[in-house]
Amino acid sequence: MQNTTPLLLAGAGPFGLSLAAYLKHEKIEHVHVGASMDYWKNFMPQKMFLRSACDWHLDPHNEATIVNYLKTLNLQPADVEPLSLDFYLTYIEWFQRQKNISPLPAWITKIDQAGHGFEVTFADGSSTLAEKVVMAVGLRYFKNIPEPLNSLFPSGRFHHTAEYIDFSNLKDKRVLIVGGRQSAFEWAALIHEEGAQNIHMTYRHDTPTFTPSDWTWVNPLVESMANRPEWFRNLSQEEKDAIIKRMWGEGRLKLEPWLAKRITQETIHLHPQTQVTDCKELPTGELQISLNDGSTFPIDHVILATGYKMDIAQIPMLANGTLTSKIKTQNGFPVLDESFQSSVPNLYFTGLPAAQDFGPFFGFTAAANTSARIIGRALSMKQNG
Ligand SMILES: Cc1cc2nc3c(=O)[nH]c(=O)nc-3n(C[C@H](O)[C@H](O)[C@H](O)COP(=O)(O)OP(=O)(O)OC[C@H]3O[C@@H](n4cnc5c(N)ncnc54)[C@H](O)[C@@H]3O)c2cc1C
Repeated sequence: MQNTTPLLLAGAGPFGLSLAAYLKHEKIEHVHVGASMDYWKNFMPQKMFLRSACDWHLDPHNEATIVNYLKTLNLQPADVEPLSLDFYLTYIEWFQRQKNISPLPAWITKIDQAGHGFEVTFADGSSTLAEKVVMAVGLRYFKNIPEPLNSLFPSGRFHHTAEYIDFSNLKDKRVLIVGGRQSAFEWAALIHEEGAQNIHMTYRHDTPTFTPSDWTWVNPLVESMANRPEWFRNLSQEEKDAIIKRMWGEGRLKLEPWLAKRITQETIHLHPQTQVTDCKELPTGELQISLNDGSTFPIDHVILATGYKMDIAQIPMLANGTLTSKIKTQNGFPVLDESFQSSVPNLYFTGLPAAQDFGPFFGFTAAANTSARIIGRALSMKQNG
């Protein structure tokens, strides 16, 4: 007989773990599936630092916060900021222990409608029937490699940042990084520190400034949204645009000051206001790069720091069934109601897919515990009839 559950929570990154904490606290019966923090462990460089600080914690009940974790270590935020990826992962392990959260590290291959609920199929062929499903599956399906970059470089010679996090193969190599935001610069610093011979960076805009980002305005907005989930959607388009511009401005127009020294190296060459016009593979195996400012140089490998673009049609577990075409979308985002429910009843999305209806904060961990409270309350009301 197939297993059944009233609720399947897919994803054990910040959004899934935060919701799991809420569900546990409210004793809402559920099955939680996902490899804990695997995107952070397997698709980000081990020596990376976070942009966010200690105030963006996961606890919907405000107890297992990063600051309270630090108290157990007799440390202050200033002792650990900027947060290393290692530190953040140890916080998450502590958080999971505090909340007694142990997701099942199973891989979902398909979710399809079955009766009034869903059949969720796993990589080992087993399946579960779930009345409701919450999708907290993160960014991994939305890597953006825009044209013409897709066809400009020979296959196997370029990778998206998420696909290239171990730089040991780049020792003594020459690298081109396409992109000029924080990830591009942090990858450049890390690749330089791994002993690359030369790193060229090309981007279409000016070099962003090494200025501390100001995220202090985000927390009050996200916190108040927990009791006003309709707040962002009810703003005028002008007001929404202003918030989006401010959020992405903090993220994209600034680089973390702690990167400045690491980037100012003779071997790191910045090419602001440029684009790649040509890439020729030479008989030596080198790639000869031409930019639209006339410069040319040989390299060995290309890294595309070209970010992410929402398109839920890219989520294989939905595309493998019949759900993709049933979910109403706008600009690639699922259209969600005030409890994060999609146009398919009982199918919820959080994290980046919720950013269009709930605001750009949902691309960051800042929104995880607010999301948990809103979805958790809605599920609790459904459970209690
Ligand atoms: C380089 C980089 C740096 C970043 N730095 C910051 C930062 O400093 N601060 C910040 O707030 N945000 C940062 N972000 C954004 C951050 O990654 C996201 O906000 C966050 O990871 C979103 O959490 P999530 O829970 O939605 O997804 P994820 O953390 O991606 O977790 C997704 C979960 O879904 C599971 N899953 C996916 N598919 C399946 C499947 N088929 N079957 C089973 N399970 C599945 C995974 O196993 C995982 O458990 C950064 C992103 C990148 C790429």
